[in-house]
Amino acid sequence: MPGSVPRIVMKFGGTSVGDIERIKAVAERVKKQKETGCDVLVVVSAMAGETNKLVGFCDALSELHDPCEYDSIVATGEQVTSGLLAIALQKLGVNARSFAGWQVPIRTDSQHGKASLDTIDGARLLGCMAEGIVPVVAGFQGVGPDGRVTTLGRGGSDTSAVALAAAVKADRCDIYTDVDGIYTTDPRIVAKARKLEKITYEEMLELASVGAKVLQTRSVGLAMREGVRVQVLSSFVDGPALVEGKLPGSLVVDEDEIVEKKLVTGIAYSRDEAKLSIRRIPDRPGIAAAIFGPLSEANVNVDMIVQSTGADGTTNMTFTTSKTDLPRAISTLESVQASVEYEELVTDADVVKISVVGVGMRSHAGVASTMFRTLSERSINIQVISTSEIKVSVLVAAEYAELAVRALHTAYGLDNV
Ligand code: ADP
Ligand code: ASP
Ligand code: MG
Repeated sequence: MPGSVPRIVMKFGGTSVGDIERIKAVAERVKKQKETGCDVLVVVSAMAGETNKLVGFCDALSELHDPCEYDSIVATGEQVTSGLLAIALQKLGVNARSFAGWQVPIRTDSQHGKASLDTIDGARLLGCMAEGIVPVVAGFQGVGPDGRVTTLGRGGSDTSAVALAAAVKADRCDIYTDVDGIYTTDPRIVAKARKLEKITYEEMLELASVGAKVLQTRSVGLAMREGVRVQVLSSFVDGPALVEGKLPGSLVVDEDEIVEKKLVTGIAYSRDEAKLSIRRIPDRPGIAAAIFGPLSEANVNVDMIVQSTGADGTTNMTFTTSKTDLPRAISTLESVQASVEYEELVTDADVVKISVVGVGMRSHAGVASTMFRTLSERSINIQVISTSEIKVSVLVAAEYAELAVRALHTAYGLDNV
């Protein structure tokens, strides 16, 4: 809006609010942003490690715990940091107040543990900002149709931040974390990873969905749909919000904003994979339906699938799920053994999925073959392959994760030299 004050959402992840000193540093940063003349809305995660601790408490009582109570427990981590940051801001002379999800309200569906956002009423937050107050919203949480607390899935504060940015029509959503931007791959495992000034929504969505946890996948999808400008930057390095007119972090943007188009933009890996092979199934129509129907009914998410048929009239079906879904997948497959008539079920959770992503793949061939050649030169055996328009993924033994990512990073010319 012409003449109106810029509005910025600032989201701080777990390590950024990891202790009282970090919370004080974040408060200073928020104060500085506010002093540039912006309206500021803050979203916080729980202190690093806190959500895991709370999940651990629930698991210790019962593995199959009530998901409603799970949510009311794990949501408390964010409530603590929102209050603490509000106090830290007040101490610096900044008018601030905390908001729990239900106080906004951030309405979600009733899928406890992985709820989807429904509607956000931005009126109270806008009213707050109009009075010069900085709202500090607890991320990760909302309220379900029955008034109970819900959470948005691990890493969900990113989604809270993007959704709030859309609800208050913010000019930008800044995601502060422990790295200074989005890199060609996880900078913690590849020292030569290069920081990307810009990345397309589509590529970031794909990278997040195959394991780059720098942004929660749903937050990227939402930003793409709502046209929210997302920047990823560090809360650990000091510096102005703008360096020589350029933003200091990485921006997630539309494809037409990218000047230099590379064949491969990024590489991600996911250790949260398990492989299941069903061997020697009598080959007849309806086999896939008889296997994957019950798995879907049991809420097992299936990812990569290969079917190979032998000369003897039997077929093998190999597919992957997340490690969490593995026990449910096994018990489901055991329950259909008599009807599917397979001979053997073999599972392996010691695997990792490596994916290369880039919009350039749409128009250029050769990405997959470079991947296969590079891995074969390192004697890394590929167990399963899957592709999409802008991605190639392979499943390899977990011990090769780092070697494979580094070798591919070099092979696609992504190394920062
Ligand atoms: P937060 O607690 O701030 O939400 P996360 O741990 O969820 O932070 O996400 C930040 C981490 O994401 C980084 O520390 C980094 O190890 C990891 N990461 C994975 N892939 C990438 C990538 N391509 N670019 C930057 N960071 C990445
Ligand atoms: N605290 C939550 C988690 O650890 C949400 C988040 O940090 O985004 O998953
Ligand atoms: Mg995160």
